[in-house]
Parts: sequence; C-alpha cells; structure tokens
Amino acid sequence: MRKIQVQAIEEAVYELFLQANYSIEPGIEKAITEAVEQETSDAGRFVLKQLSENYRIARTEKMAICQDTGASMVFMDIGQEVYLEGELPETAVNRGVRRAYTEGFLRKSMVKDPLFDRTNTGDNTPAILYTRIVEGDRISLSVAAKGFGCENMSRTKMLVPGDGIDGVKDFILETIRIAGPNTCPPSLVGVGIGGTIDYAAMLSKRALLRPVGDTHPDARYAQLEQELLEKANQLGIGPGGYGGKMTALAVKIESYPTHIASIPVCVTMCCHASRHASRVL
Ligand code: SF4
Repeated sequence: MRKIQVQAIEEAVYELFLQANYSIEPGIEKAITEAVEQETSDAGRFVLKQLSENYRIARTEKMAICQDTGASMVFMDIGQEVYLEGELPETAVNRGVRRAYTEGFLRKSMVKDPLFDRTNTGDNTPAILYTRIVEGDRISLSVAAKGFGCENMSRTKMLVPGDGIDGVKDFILETIRIAGPNTCPPSLVGVGIGGTIDYAAMLSKRALLRPVGDTHPDARYAQLEQELLEKANQLGIGPGGYGGKMTALAVKIESYPTHIASIPVCVTMCCHASRHASRVL
C-alpha cells in the first residue's frame, strides 16, 4: 500500500482549478489559431483572433478565460493500493475548490438548491465529484470548470437499436444545430454512448477531458468522430454564431456496453473554453 495524505488532494484540486481557469489547453489554442486559416467568414476570423488574444491575456495576466468560471467538476481515479490518510476525500476536494475560487478571484456560480433556495453558496462548492477505484498505487485527478451556457444546450436521448448509427449521428448533429450560438462556438462536443441514461451522461463529460488533437484508439469511433466534426462544420453556425465554417473544434466519443433494448446517447456541449487540467498523485 502507498500512503497518500488527503491534504495532497486539496492542494492538487486548488492548483488545477487555477490552471484550468487561466490557461486553456494548448491543443485548443493551437486549434483556434489553425481555424483562422480555415475560416471562410470575416466575422468568424475576427472572433477566432479575439479568442486567441483572450487566451493569451488570461494566461499571462492570470485572469479567468471567461466570466462564467463554471461548475467545478472533479474526476478522481483512486488506485486500489492507495491508503488515504486524513479526512474524507470529498471534504478535501471542496476545500480545494473553495480556495481556488476565492483566492483566484473566480466567479462563484453554485446555488444551494435548484428549486427552493437559489442563494449562491459563495465559494463554488459543492464540486460535482466522480470517483473510481482503479489498479495501482496512484490517484489520477482531472478537473473541469464547466460553463453552463453550453451545458444548457446539452441533450440526452434513449435511442433504440432500430435507430442505428444513423439515428445516433442525426441526434448529435441536431443537438449541435439547435445549440446554435448559445454554446459560444467553436464548440467541443462530448458524446457518451451506451451504459444507462446516467452513465452515458458521465461518459460525455469524460470525453471532454481528452486532448483536442488526439485520435480515438478504436478506428471505428475515430472515423465517426471525424465524420461528425466535418458535418458539424457544414452547419454554418460559425465562430460566435456569426456564420462561417468553424462551428466545432472536435467531437469526442466515449462508449460502454449497453442493454439489448437501447442505445443511450448523451451529448454534452462545451464552448471553446473547455477548461480542464489533470495531475497524477
Ligand atoms: S458557454 Fe463557455 S465561453 Fe460562453 S459564457 Fe459560458 S463558459 Fe463562457
């Protein structure tokens, strides 16, 4: 067994949320720069250049990339040979979030209850925490600051086997089309397929943790991701929704076995500001 102090989780969560909010993933910055060359509309090129400049200022001045600094999502994979010493990991995660959002001057966006008490919790807690027990003696932490203009445009649907791959493609592209300018495009599109309705949603969030320029290890899904990206970029929504070619930077799919009666699909829409960061303890 390897002993890890829970305090180390708090420190990592604190630093990762600052990093995610100030410094966009290098692959996204590169994709935006390359998109300027590919964009066909003047307004679209202008938006993309503004986004590049915004990333540069945020990184160098240590300012939030966007005013909506998101809900704090944390994915924690705990090796089964890890012995955690200290308080509950969830307590440490929330303390890390609290410190990052308070000391880092990041907007606090969480309310106490979705229906009956929409008072701000004042520190962006509680985090949305997913934990998994995995092999090994390490803890893998990933955080995501998930904006909600785009989250509000996410959709899920229980398709049936008769809908087939074409039904899945149609639902994903329909979701991107309906979202229009509301996701602050160019978007990152996370797709979860399989499992149950809730598992597909979780997969769609994990899909967004992948680097923008990577290739799916399964050639069938790699091809599907590429096809959906090309079709998304024929919708004409364009950067900022002002029309143009670059509606999406990437479509990322994660899949899981499912029931014979169903094809659960969840599409999590994410803006260009797909802020995430990872560390292994
Ligand atoms: S959708 Fe993204 S870029 Fe747009 S306001 Fe929300 S967090 Fe910011």
